[in-house]
Amino acid sequence: MKLIFTIIFVFISCMIYAQQPCGTFEYESYLDAKFKGYSNALDLTRQQSANAMHQLNKAVNDSIYQIPVVFHVVWRDEVQNIDDSLIISQLLTLNESFNHRHKDTGKVRSIFKPVTGDARIEFYLANKDPMGKSCTGINRVKTTRYDFGESTNLFADAVKYTTDKGVDAWDPEKYLNIWVCKFTYNGTLAVSAYAYPPVNAKFWNATYYKSLDLQGVVVNYQFVGKQNPNDVTPTSIRERTLVHEVGHYLGLRHIWADKSNCTGEDDGFKDTPLSRSATTSFNITKNTCNEGTGDKVDMIENYMDYTPYPYTIMFTQMQIQQMRYNLLNLRSKAYRIKTDLPPPPVYTKISVAPNPIQGNLKIIFDKVGAYSMNVVDIIGQPVAEEQFSIGDTFEYNNPLHVASGIYYLSILKDNEVVLKQKILIQ
Ligand SMILES: [Zn+2]
Repeated sequence: MKLIFTIIFVFISCMIYAQQPCGTFEYESYLDAKFKGYSNALDLTRQQSANAMHQLNKAVNDSIYQIPVVFHVVWRDEVQNIDDSLIISQLLTLNESFNHRHKDTGKVRSIFKPVTGDARIEFYLANKDPMGKSCTGINRVKTTRYDFGESTNLFADAVKYTTDKGVDAWDPEKYLNIWVCKFTYNGTLAVSAYAYPPVNAKFWNATYYKSLDLQGVVVNYQFVGKQNPNDVTPTSIRERTLVHEVGHYLGLRHIWADKSNCTGEDDGFKDTPLSRSATTSFNITKNTCNEGTGDKVDMIENYMDYTPYPYTIMFTQMQIQQMRYNLLNLRSKAYRIKTDLPPPPVYTKISVAPNPIQGNLKIIFDKVGAYSMNVVDIIGQPVAEEQFSIGDTFEYNNPLHVASGIYYLSILKDNEVVLKQKILIQ
């Protein structure tokens, strides 16, 4: 009987874990156990940041900050080696979300509209690696390790080390490192992703905390990009998983402050109503804490809640101030100020993949915009011509109705040829 109870208990535990989109809070507890004083140091840092953020100069506050990102795709099976187009669409989602311009922003309830804001933080795929060489910002590493999860905790820090069959961070002071891999807790998908919040180095135990190699975000490969075909979790935050995690990376806490009561510790922001639980289904009447006069319902549309896709849609102005302060002070080398100079390319080339082509012609673009395409056969006779716009997927994916054989494809933008390539239709 006791054995059966244990088995059921373990099963239920796993089921609960399976509902959890993010493990950042547990990660903090884990680090606190591993490195004594970590949580206290983090609380002090949060407090100090909150006190100091109002001193920011208004002019500095108006700048747009741009953070270079490297995606380390660490894969063993082909399914984990996610497509470039998913990563590019993820970048787009990060930029739409942090700059409050995605299609769902209008759905913020009227009581919360006055406190929404535009963080003016942008993300771009790093175009120079740590050695200064040109790169795409996508670092693919084949591994022999099947699963980066550990049996004693919910995390996957091994993926951050080449010696553990993962890959070392690119200078974490200068890049936002995002590791994409498979990680489970004893075979069960436990958390979608977790992040490493910034810590002011002076509060760290010098023996451990000066090491920066754990900084960044780890995400299961199912939760990167728009319409990731591997994401079959109904309660998932989908491509906004990484919006939530980058919120942690810039120092935000969950809006319910990882507690189950209405008193004590809060997330630190007066413009997020008190809450005492994560939101796991869409419920606009959810109101877990009565705040007396002016009481508001829980802000389930906040990115720092767990509300399933597509209902998390906003950061508040105080959250934004905090992130910007943290970026300037605690991640001071990890951004550049946007100027009138052209932004770095989102992606370095237009590519046809795969080629030879079976089925649809698939072209990945480096920029949104209007394009025209023509295809000629080997004697130069036009066989196809089309005009199309690249929207938020950065991808053209349509059938080409021609016989098998060799053809020449040209892509034009503003009457200029941007790609000319031989293609083989099978
Ligand atoms: Zn979280």
